[in-house]
Amino acid sequence: MIARAQALAALAEQEFDLVVVGGGITGAGVALDAATRGYSVALLERADYASGTSSRSSKLVHGGLRYLQNFDLALVREALLERQLMVALAPHLVHPLPLVVPAFDGVRPDRLMGVGLNLYDAMSLDRERLRAGRAAIGRSRRGRSERAQSASAAEAEPLSAPAQAKSETGESWSPERHRTISGEEVLELLPALAAREPTSGYLFYDCQTDDVRLVLTVLGEAERFGAVCANRVEAAGLLEREGRARGVRARDRESGEEFEIAAANVVNATGVWADGLSEESELPRIRPSRGTHILLRHEDLPLIGGAIVPAGEGRSIFALPWLGRTLVGTTDLDYEGELDHVSPSGEDVGYLLSAVNEFFDTAFGARDLAGAYAGVRPLISSGDPKKSVDISRKAELYEASSGMLTITGGKLTTWRRMAKMTVDRLVERDAREAPCHTHEIPLGQAIVVEDLPRVEGVPELSYAALAGRYGYAAREVLALAAERGELAQPIVPGLPDLLAEVALAARREQARSIGDVLLRRTRLGLLAARELPVERVADVLARELHWDAERTAREIALFAQEADAEGIRADAEPVDAKAGASSPDGRRVGADGERAGSDGAGDAVSREARSA
Ligand SMILES: Cc1cc2nc3c(=O)[nH]c(=O)nc-3n(C[C@H](O)[C@H](O)[C@H](O)COP(=O)(O)OP(=O)(O)OC[C@H]3O[C@@H](n4cnc5c(N)ncnc54)[C@H](O)[C@@H]3O)c2cc1C
Repeated sequence: MIARAQALAALAEQEFDLVVVGGGITGAGVALDAATRGYSVALLERADYASGTSSRSSKLVHGGLRYLQNFDLALVREALLERQLMVALAPHLVHPLPLVVPAFDGVRPDRLMGVGLNLYDAMSLDRERLRAGRAAIGRSRRGRSERAQSASAAEAEPLSAPAQAKSETGESWSPERHRTISGEEVLELLPALAAREPTSGYLFYDCQTDDVRLVLTVLGEAERFGAVCANRVEAAGLLEREGRARGVRARDRESGEEFEIAAANVVNATGVWADGLSEESELPRIRPSRGTHILLRHEDLPLIGGAIVPAGEGRSIFALPWLGRTLVGTTDLDYEGELDHVSPSGEDVGYLLSAVNEFFDTAFGARDLAGAYAGVRPLISSGDPKKSVDISRKAELYEASSGMLTITGGKLTTWRRMAKMTVDRLVERDAREAPCHTHEIPLGQAIVVEDLPRVEGVPELSYAALAGRYGYAAREVLALAAERGELAQPIVPGLPDLLAEVALAARREQARSIGDVLLRRTRLGLLAARELPVERVADVLARELHWDAERTAREIALFAQEADAEGIRADAEPVDAKAGASSPDGRRVGADGERAGSDGAGDAVSREARSA
């Protein structure tokens, strides 16, 4: 990404076709879609990129098996197609993940689940579209590779032969049908279940990602097509001319300076904050719902694939392998607290621990957690307080009388569809001929791990992690590690993230604070919340961002406050891990991080709020 100062100057000076407010996955997607259709785009993020809901998901790119129960077939189908497309567009970042529904004591796996999985399999297939997409991706990657070769010889080596071959043949993931597996196979995927001696299980597939890296990658692509993005810039209000939105009043949250950003169109992609940007009556009413996740060390609860874990009252949660830890979630409960820092409640943590302990026959308490986090879903209220189950996860597009478009709801998985819906409306309004291209634009450049240059001091396990996180750009991290030996060291001993990534985050990804680096460039704040070498990270940042000793000490104190407010150590409240696995009153949980039966991402444009 370009440096923040450079982005700020461009925002103040230029006039844009579109200003996007919000730097989560939805805003990033809109910026990419619009930029690739020829719009000049500015994107503002009030805090840090993905610091809202988009860093707090279950990290699944999935159809949402649960929604089949409610016959939300169109919504599941749409998400399944997006899932497959994401693996093709960003193979380094979106991975297939085997998931297991285990059965015990010789009992057959649940038949109803089997019926649902049959439907899930059938709905996953779209050979025609994938063929077209693969061919386009092959063409696009070849084009990029040629561009890369003509750039600086030192930096821009062509794609590795295997990576090229992969894109040229269009080889990409296609989910296997689900099948019944033996108890031994269950244990290969879920070693943590050894004490329970599973006798069989269903095996099916969904996909997994690092949600923040997906946002940063989409933003990087948007920038490649000319978008100008800046974090810590807030849209404080709309600029209006003759009743039409013509940009935003912006406030630089670092300097406090206010300035205007002129743009012909405004898109509000502020998630749970969506009802705060202008006239309330014209915006969707958001009813946030909190979801909590906890992380355990892989050594304590070893998983190779994911497990569907019963959580009482017919509910279930996930236990998933993620970045070398085991991620467990989630809960789903109406939330009325402050939105800037959402922390896991002791009650939620206890609930998740109880379900895990019951299922895996373990006795974990809050002190065993590697980390924890919570987020709020931007659910759109039906307006009827009695109908809480109707609160929708559907993506909705609203158009205010000023012309401002608000896009909210939806899922991480369906960001591209949401962006398309939004930009299609802009194109329709402007009577342009500008079809959507995002289905054929690779997200980052995948690279084969073996092709990364080896750098003295970099632990072997770091190479795969770097390739997965950055793709081709992993070379930049390694170049930094080669340049300054101390940057070749891991940030947390035993984990793959390198100090070079701290420097890269500051230089290339607009990281401005310790929290940006530990929570949203690396994910160490969640993976190793109790063992963070904050001073070491601060030292690297101080050098990159020219902090003096006083500023460095202040930043360290600010991170301590942020970590407390986020509750990443999950030690703020005592947890009763022994309280049964049944859900507390009013709680609704879903194994896919979503409230059962009310999610989806439809293409329907809600015109209720339009005045025209
Ligand atoms: C617990 C949980 C689990 C989930 N699991 C999954 C999952 O596994 N798979 C899946 O597909 N989906 C999942 N979801 C849903 C998914 O995470 C969200 O739908 C998605 O991240 C929402 O993205 P967004 O960009 O709309 O909102 P956000 O990510 O919240 O982005 C909005 C941004 O706008 C910024 N902003 C607000 N006001 C202003 C302003 N005035 N000026 C500038 N910027 C502003 C905020 O700082 C924020 O960064 C989950 C959600 C939760 C809560």
